[in-house]
Amino acid sequence: KLFNEVQEAKGNIRVFCRCRPLNKGEIASGCTTIVDFDAGKDGSLGILTTASTKKSFKFDRVYTPKDEQVDVFADASPMVISVLDGYNVCIFAYGQTGTGKTFTMEGTDQNRGVNYRTLEKLFETARERSETFKYDISVSVLEVYNEQIRDLLATSPTSKKLEIKQASEGSHHVPGIVEARVDNIDQVWTVLQAGSNARAIGSNNVNEHSSRSHCLLCIMVRAKNLMNGECTKSKLWLVDLAGSERLAKTDVQGERLKEAQNINRSLSALGDVISALANKSSHIPYRNSKLTHLLQDSLGGDSKTLMFVQISPSDQDLGETLSSLNFATRVR
Ligand code: ADP
Ligand code: MG
Repeated sequence: KLFNEVQEAKGNIRVFCRCRPLNKGEIASGCTTIVDFDAGKDGSLGILTTASTKKSFKFDRVYTPKDEQVDVFADASPMVISVLDGYNVCIFAYGQTGTGKTFTMEGTDQNRGVNYRTLEKLFETARERSETFKYDISVSVLEVYNEQIRDLLATSPTSKKLEIKQASEGSHHVPGIVEARVDNIDQVWTVLQAGSNARAIGSNNVNEHSSRSHCLLCIMVRAKNLMNGECTKSKLWLVDLAGSERLAKTDVQGERLKEAQNINRSLSALGDVISALANKSSHIPYRNSKLTHLLQDSLGGDSKTLMFVQISPSDQDLGETLSSLNFATRVR
C-alpha cells in the first residue's frame, strides 16, 4: 500500500505549460497579454490559446500566472516519488530566456522550486518507508556548455575533459564526477548553492552564461528492500535548459555563433529523442548531443519524462511563444 500514492502516468511523457506573469517593465511599456487559458472539460487537460493568432494548444496541465510553486510541484510530485520505486525520471524546463525556467526549477529563497521540493519530498517519503526500505541519496550538479560537460561540485578546477561512459550493464555515467551524499534537506540547500555559485565562476555575465548553458541536477537513489534484500539504483534528472530563443542575425558571429549552434543542436536533439519516444520509433537518436547522451538512461524504456514549457504572456514575445508551443506539440 506504500505505493498507492504513485499515480500511474497514462504514458511516460507528460508536458506541462507554465505562463509567467507580465513583469513591471512590460506593464510600464504597455505590453498586453496574448494568452488565454481554459481548464478543459475533464479538468485534466489545459487548453491554451494565443489570442492574436487564435491558435490552441493542449497540455497535460496548464499553469496560469496566478499558479504558485506549490501548485506546480503538487502535479510533478507523483512522478518524482517514482524514483524511490526504481524508475528513472527526467524533468526539464524548456523555453525562451526570461520565461521562468530557473524560477520553476530552482525557485528563489522565499519561493523554492521543483529541485528543492523534490529532495524534500524524497526525504519525507524515504522516512515514511524506513521500516521496509533503506535509501541512500546522492546528488551531482553539472553544466553542459558548448557540448562540454562541467562538474559544478568539483572543488578544484580540472582541465580533464569529462566524458560519458557506458557501463557493462548498459547504464551511462561520467567517470570522475562528484556525487555528494545527502542525508537531509539542510545539506541539500548547501550543495545546490555551491553548484549555483560555481556556475558563475569564469563567466563575466552570469545571466547570459546561464541562458546559454544547460544546468543539470542528478539525484541518484540506491534502495535496499529490507524484506528481501533486493537492491535497486535509479536516477532523477532535473534540467534547466538553455534559452530556446533564436539570436538576432546581426548578433550571430564568432563565439556567439558557436554557442547558438550548440544550443540549437542540443535542443533539437532533445526534441528529436522525445518525439521518437512518443511515436514509438525503433531508432532513438540519443547520440546527437551531449545532453541526450547524458540523459539516455532516463529517457525511454520505462522511464518517466516531464517537460515544463515556459512561456511569456506578452504580445512582444508572440513569435518565441509560438515557437515554444510548437516544440511542445511535437514532443507530446
Ligand atoms: P529563465 O530561467 O527562463 O531565463 P527566470 O526563471 O530567470 O527565467 O525568470 C525571469 C524572471 O521572472 C525572474 O525574475 C523570475 O523570478 C520571474 N518569474 C518567472 N516566472 C515567474 C512566476 N511564475 N511568478 C512570478 N515571477 C516569475
Ligand atoms: Mg534561467
